[in-house]
Amino acid sequence: MTVPAPAVDPAIAEQAIAAARYPEPDRRPLQIFAFDPMIARLSGQETTTIAVPYEPLRPGPSGELIQVIDYDGAAGCYYEPVNLDDPRVLLQDGLPPSERDPRFHQQMVYAVISALLENFERALGRRFRWRGDRRLRAFPHAFRDRNALFDPDMDGTLKFGYFKADEKNPGRNLPGQTVFTCLSHDIVVHEATHALVHRLRERYKEPTNLDVYAFHEGFADAVALFQHFTLPDIVDRYIQQNRTDLTARSPLVDLAQQFGEGSGMGRALRSALGDAPDPALIARTFEPHRRGSILVAAIFDGFFTAYQTGIADLLRIATAGSGVLPEGALHPDLVRRVAAEARRAAQRILTMCIRSFQYLPPVDVTFSDFLRSIVTADRDLYPLDEDGLRAALIEGFRRRGIYPSMVSSLADEALSWPDAEDRGLPPIDRDVINALVLDTAVGFRERRGEEHSLKPSFEPSWAAAKLHRYALVNAARLGLAGPGRTKVDGFHAAFRQGASGQLRVDVVIRYVQSVPPETQDRFGPMLGGIPLRGGATVVADATGRVRHVITKPVPTDPDAAGATDSGVARLRAVRHWVAQFDGHDLLAPWVEADRRVTESLNFARIDSRF
Ligand SMILES: [Zn+2]
Repeated sequence: MTVPAPAVDPAIAEQAIAAARYPEPDRRPLQIFAFDPMIARLSGQETTTIAVPYEPLRPGPSGELIQVIDYDGAAGCYYEPVNLDDPRVLLQDGLPPSERDPRFHQQMVYAVISALLENFERALGRRFRWRGDRRLRAFPHAFRDRNALFDPDMDGTLKFGYFKADEKNPGRNLPGQTVFTCLSHDIVVHEATHALVHRLRERYKEPTNLDVYAFHEGFADAVALFQHFTLPDIVDRYIQQNRTDLTARSPLVDLAQQFGEGSGMGRALRSALGDAPDPALIARTFEPHRRGSILVAAIFDGFFTAYQTGIADLLRIATAGSGVLPEGALHPDLVRRVAAEARRAAQRILTMCIRSFQYLPPVDVTFSDFLRSIVTADRDLYPLDEDGLRAALIEGFRRRGIYPSMVSSLADEALSWPDAEDRGLPPIDRDVINALVLDTAVGFRERRGEEHSLKPSFEPSWAAAKLHRYALVNAARLGLAGPGRTKVDGFHAAFRQGASGQLRVDVVIRYVQSVPPETQDRFGPMLGGIPLRGGATVVADATGRVRHVITKPVPTDPDAAGATDSGVARLRAVRHWVAQFDGHDLLAPWVEADRRVTESLNFARIDSRF
């Protein structure tokens, strides 16, 4: 005998189905190696779980901004893509760390880049998008070599190599064991940062002065090192182990330890500590990674000072004023408080560095521009520098011989980019401002992987046309008066929070100006192929009032009609740099003389030690 199924009211069934849906989670926990597999093995514990922003994922993982594609170029095969949305994987916070399982490698690359992107978005005050709404593609096992690379001229993907550890000097690896660069937290962050910087300033791939590629390398290293301080539990452990001394050697301040040792170097690839401060060193350091290391050391000098100042009161309390820590293990409460201070200072300085992009010129970046942009961006939000972070950073740069050009003193007021008030610029078009602000606001509400119904019908080409006209009408006031064509390079709004909690809205527009073709033809070959460009970054407030204009005058032929002093000086500066280049050993073999600078200094060439 069968019992008839009870009749179900369709309306009630629909309600039951709706109730069965759960709210979307905010974060996705994923396990990773904190540094790399070698350090994990030696310490017996250094894997960690990070919580990245939740988004629905397809196997790969493949999300809104990142797509991991596991094609092994050397073996000529695809590895099975990990499905991070599988319930069995979700229940374990992702796959457990493993050197053998390529699916874990894919997970680690995704997790580390996701965390990095979130940090950039937070600092920049807007949702990040890749150009043309594409995704960043990452290949965890792209080739068999001691290298990892980002090459915007190939296809703009991240490629991670793998290799056998040195047979004679494998460091703390087994001789001949396979080292995967995609399992090094630092290498993944470093390469992804190259892609991010390239997205923010595309023209920085043009080697127009000695600092450009050094900035790329130093910035990517600094970001990788500061990301260590965001890893749960790791900071506490080394604070305890080194008795609050962050300048003691540890994986926290070293970069890509397994890679360095596995390559037979006998040590980490690079370090935050650098050489003893010597202001003269920078004048004789040309190789981009080494010159970049000076930048890293300067930033970390500032960080260590800020940290010491920040924990001084805690140490006084803990030692009854003597400052001398007792023998033995530190009290866990003290460790916790000191570690919190280290994390706070690290995050503040990393945020300052990323925020500097709001004020960086569209072309021809120098260390000096970077310092001035950091100071300006930070002063916007923290006018008083109450915790002394800015002062510590400026002093760190000074000790490494990085002096800002064209400023009267090292006071942070003098270091800020000058106010644009006396340029007499009209305000930016109201409709453009409104559209950009709305676009940014909606961007924050958009859930990843889903179209949001609030998306405005914002047509970027309409705003670009208006902003282009603004540049033509105000060319002289923007410093874009020289001969050549001006284009709108990018524009966006940014939301940030000031020290007193108020919301601050800025609108940023970038213009790039190229020299006329006859000028490029005349000077390009003698300048080793460097494209001659100028440009301006314009920062306005929400009312459209222009606050700052950071201009790089377009290099100008002194014989050209309408040549300006600043344009001629800029051409002289490029010629001076190429003369320096020709006198040093940066030249790559087998390059055409006409393109000797651009063919020697580009990502494919210099990133051979990533
Ligand atoms: Zn690099």
